[in-house]
Amino acid sequence: MAGNRTFTMIKPGAVRNGHIGAILAKINEAGFRIVAMKYTKLSAEKAGEFYAVHKERPFYGELVEFMSSGPIVAAILEKDNAVEDFRELIGATNPAEAKPGTIRALYATSIGENAVHGSDSDENAAIEGSFHFAGTEIF
Ligand code: ADP
Repeated sequence: MAGNRTFTMIKPGAVRNGHIGAILAKINEAGFRIVAMKYTKLSAEKAGEFYAVHKERPFYGELVEFMSSGPIVAAILEKDNAVEDFRELIGATNPAEAKPGTIRALYATSIGENAVHGSDSDENAAIEGSFHFAGTEIF
């Protein structure tokens, strides 16, 4: 089952710009089932913890500040080959390099404020999902 799930966040920029509905529609149209979802806000501490793997990168401070700057939508999504197919749906990290029609090409404003997060492995999908959701919140 783990291989069929990924974790996503609609980031604060895309929420501020009014794209929650459009992004969820793309996710549904691509065949993902939402198995958990919440509208929430990360504290700077929680954002720092989520992105701890990037601690040494020059953009870490700005990433933590951005990710805690407003509400997000966090969700666990289910589909065959979820991690890879979702990365394909969202497009490259840098929206300038994202394929036309991908979520980042449509809704990201910069490499830092790139609309959505998508897990990069089954292992991280499981870790990130449990970072945000208790077992009783997953359906
Ligand atoms: P992805 O989210 O596509 O897996 P990474 O794991 O490399 O990308 O980076 C995590 C997040 O850090 C990105 O989604 C983006 O918000 C931010 N980020 C990555 N590279 C840069 C950069 N060069 N400048 C600013 N922010 C960046």
